[in-house]
Amino acid sequence: MRAPLTRRLAGFGTTIFTEMTRLAQEHGAINLAQGFPDFDGPDFVKDAAKAAIDAGQNQYARMTGLPALNQALARRYQHHYGLSFDTDREIVVTSGCTEAIFAAIAGICDVGDEVILFQPYYDSYRASVCMAGAIPKVVTLWPPDGTQGWHFDAQQLERAFSERTRAILLNSPHNPTGKVFTRQELELIAQLCRKYNVICISDEVYEHLVYTGVHIPMATLLPELTITLSSLGKSFSLTGWKVGWACAPAPLAAAVRSAHQFITFATATPFQVAAAVAVAAPDDFFVQLQREYRERRDYLTGVLQEVGLEVWEPEGTYFTCASLRGTGYTDDFAFAKHLIAHGVATIPPSAFYEQPELGRGYVRFAFCKRRETLEAAAERLRAWRKL
Ligand code: GLN
Repeated sequence: MRAPLTRRLAGFGTTIFTEMTRLAQEHGAINLAQGFPDFDGPDFVKDAAKAAIDAGQNQYARMTGLPALNQALARRYQHHYGLSFDTDREIVVTSGCTEAIFAAIAGICDVGDEVILFQPYYDSYRASVCMAGAIPKVVTLWPPDGTQGWHFDAQQLERAFSERTRAILLNSPHNPTGKVFTRQELELIAQLCRKYNVICISDEVYEHLVYTGVHIPMATLLPELTITLSSLGKSFSLTGWKVGWACAPAPLAAAVRSAHQFITFATATPFQVAAAVAVAAPDDFFVQLQREYRERRDYLTGVLQEVGLEVWEPEGTYFTCASLRGTGYTDDFAFAKHLIAHGVATIPPSAFYEQPELGRGYVRFAFCKRRETLEAAAERLRAWRKL
């Protein structure tokens, strides 16, 4: 009998986030695996959603996004980065950035088109490319080597581009490595995109969580070919609301919209009302968010170093990676299982590689957690190290 699952999806299994969260629950481990805050989002945003529900804003929103949210987004991009997007034609509100990624790929890629990805990649990237019938072409980000942080080989990147390339998926700040791409790296990518007329799908959900350097939106370097994606989840600690968006020049936005209208059609109305309030937050809000996250990062990386792990200090995001060197382990899954048994769950990143062997030598820790949670994890890590 024919298997129920398509060949496109066979081989992807269950996402590592679901798997590790399940294992964490089973073992009573502290979940530094899946990247979600264990604290709540701000009251002014939650209150806006509650008020919208009570005010009867509960039917379908406009397919491209509630006008108030699209307007708030246009103002925000102008204010933060000097980028201009037309409210109605150049912004599409989606159900989280994950939908925006798939809608962008499904909207612009024909079957057989090639899409360049950096590995390690957020796991939905490769699955989305394959679901759209496109072909992933992978370029490796290599771990810090003492002289440089996470880096790629410019020649490998250049070789990945060809007449068959339709898009490149970029993620800066980068999950899982915490890398913030430099201006020079982004300029090289922009130059190659122009040379081959390749669209850059730029996932910038960690844009406000940068600790070293600055966030440079790809659209400031390659406006005509960039689809900028972001969301509410990471910037407002509301990952369960699933409100995201795509911004791009009108023809590209129209392609995203064509897919979006048949994937989810519209995103939950009251959450869009609240999202419009959120993205209009004063600059102080983002400064404070970054300050709190920098403290969390410094605390967790300090603890990991204290227990003898070699930490690759992240420049941005929710995450830090640590090498397995000196642990006696050479396999990330085996180490992650070992650490779960000692009460701390992590993500084994080999799941984010086309060649899993390239990701076996480290694990990812999430620090988007309350201080008490990080302190409890620290106690367990200290106890583990003493064994
Ligand atoms: N983006 C989050 C992470 O990387 C969670 C993703 C998910 O659960 N699908 O941990």
